[in-house]
Amino acid sequence: MNTSATSTGVSSGQAHGGNGGSPAATQIEVRKPSDGTLIGTVPLDDKEAVQAAVARVRSNQPAWEALGIKGRRKYLFQLRDWLLDHEDEIADLMQAETGKVRADASSETTYLADLINYYGKKAKKFIGEEKVSAHSPLMSVKKLRVQHRPYEVAGVISPWNFPLILSLGDAIPALIAGCAVVIKPSELTPLGLQRVLKAWKEEIGAPDVLEVVNGLGETGSALVDEVDFVQFTGSDRTGKKVMAQAAETLTPVSLELGGNDAMIVLDSAKLDRAVNAAAWGSFLNTGQVCMSVERIYVADALYEEFVEKLTKEVNELRQGEDDTDYGAEVGAMTFAPQIDICTDHIEDARKKGARILTGGEGREDRPGQWLRPTVIADASPEMEVVKEESFGPVVAVMKVRDANEAVERANASRHGLTGYVFGKRSEAEAVARRLEVGAACVNDVLINFLNPAVPMGGWKDSGIGFRRGAYGIKKFVRSESLVINRFGQGPGRDPFFFPYTPERRALLNRIFRFFGARDLRRKLGK
Ligand code: NAD
Repeated sequence: MNTSATSTGVSSGQAHGGNGGSPAATQIEVRKPSDGTLIGTVPLDDKEAVQAAVARVRSNQPAWEALGIKGRRKYLFQLRDWLLDHEDEIADLMQAETGKVRADASSETTYLADLINYYGKKAKKFIGEEKVSAHSPLMSVKKLRVQHRPYEVAGVISPWNFPLILSLGDAIPALIAGCAVVIKPSELTPLGLQRVLKAWKEEIGAPDVLEVVNGLGETGSALVDEVDFVQFTGSDRTGKKVMAQAAETLTPVSLELGGNDAMIVLDSAKLDRAVNAAAWGSFLNTGQVCMSVERIYVADALYEEFVEKLTKEVNELRQGEDDTDYGAEVGAMTFAPQIDICTDHIEDARKKGARILTGGEGREDRPGQWLRPTVIADASPEMEVVKEESFGPVVAVMKVRDANEAVERANASRHGLTGYVFGKRSEAEAVARRLEVGAACVNDVLINFLNPAVPMGGWKDSGIGFRRGAYGIKKFVRSESLVINRFGQGPGRDPFFFPYTPERRALLNRIFRFFGARDLRRKLGK
């Protein structure tokens, strides 16, 4: 395999200054994973730069909040229009910095446009002021309201696989909620976001409440110390560090972490659909999707035919780049060390007796970071490829006796992000309900991500908290309950107040007993 030329993407996340990566580095070099060419640089922001960025947007947040949902969403709608008008420019940048094929690169802008429309329309329902009825006639003398006020500054820390969706996709609801937002994108893929930020500031002329800081883990860590809410997407290893650090300042976190997602193919499944969905679900974005199909459990009766058809389809996938005419399905690998993780998983599976039916190696025929789409059959639970996330173009297929065994093995994972079940609808739905995951699709894969109306999040080591749906915006606000006397300021002294007297306490007890009891004897205190 040929990873050496670009073994780092952005030089493995190393910062490089004019002096070639000394401690005094001031910028990060961004390289094209498909051939190693240097395509840009971004400044490396230190702790002081992060503090200054957060302080600046914090000072602008009250005016942003005061605009109200309508006033704020106006700018997001402008951002939507800008994204759609610059679809090709953004897709070019996405392809260059990630190595994605065109089809995957061009999905980022349309996805975000859809999300802006969704939260633009639903924000009032999800975080607008709520009128609340008293739970008991006794409390009807109070007017009850709940208002939702944003955290002042939300920090969004994001990975490299969908550089805009996984950063702006959380910044959008946060901004509509009234937060100021500072994003720390992956050091491997900062260029697309940098372009969008320029548009936000200079072309849209939106208020200065969105900022980007660039850097490695230290920059992300500095951001955690400064903000009031942390939205993190990345590996569970880093997610745990972020949560531990945030605990020091009691800063709330929402963590969207890795997955090792299972697909179950019941014996009632329509085979062709299951095979085609498996190929797409495993190799979309070169398998670098948190919700990728990584493990497939197939009913005994369909197993051999499923494996044969899947191998044939995967063999026919075209791998390449620069395919503005959609001439390839599978691209390069964004992060060179991820190739090593995948090949380790493949070798471990081979040694432990699995069959590598296609793929399993890099591409000596070209420079850049490549791994051929790989299908592993006859995998078993002790193999790394089954136990751990590969996060690359590798899928393991296993035979199961029945639905019960499939559910048991699918759930025997420390991850619980997404699950997929194929089969007769009623049977497949019953199986999907038993999966220990944040989202399950029946006779489909990955499609929950295109449904922002339902929450997406991980169980177990796949995360804490949810994005999308009401959860995806409510997490950026704090509730304030307002309990207001309906009748002016009230009497000088309520029966609850001091001093306690036998008469007043007896009266109060009788009243509360009357409303609390559900039978006449207790109501009357007998
Ligand atoms: P990563 O954890 O290495 O890095 C994620 C981000 O955290 C980067 O911006 C990185 O610079 C930053 N970071 C690193 N150390 C930090 C620290 N100590 N404090 C604060 N920030 C720090 O993950 P990655 O390699 O960029 O992404 C791949 C992982 O992300 C996979 O596990 C994948 O499944 C997961 N992922 C999850 C979702 C989801 O929605 N659940 C989506 C995409 C990717």
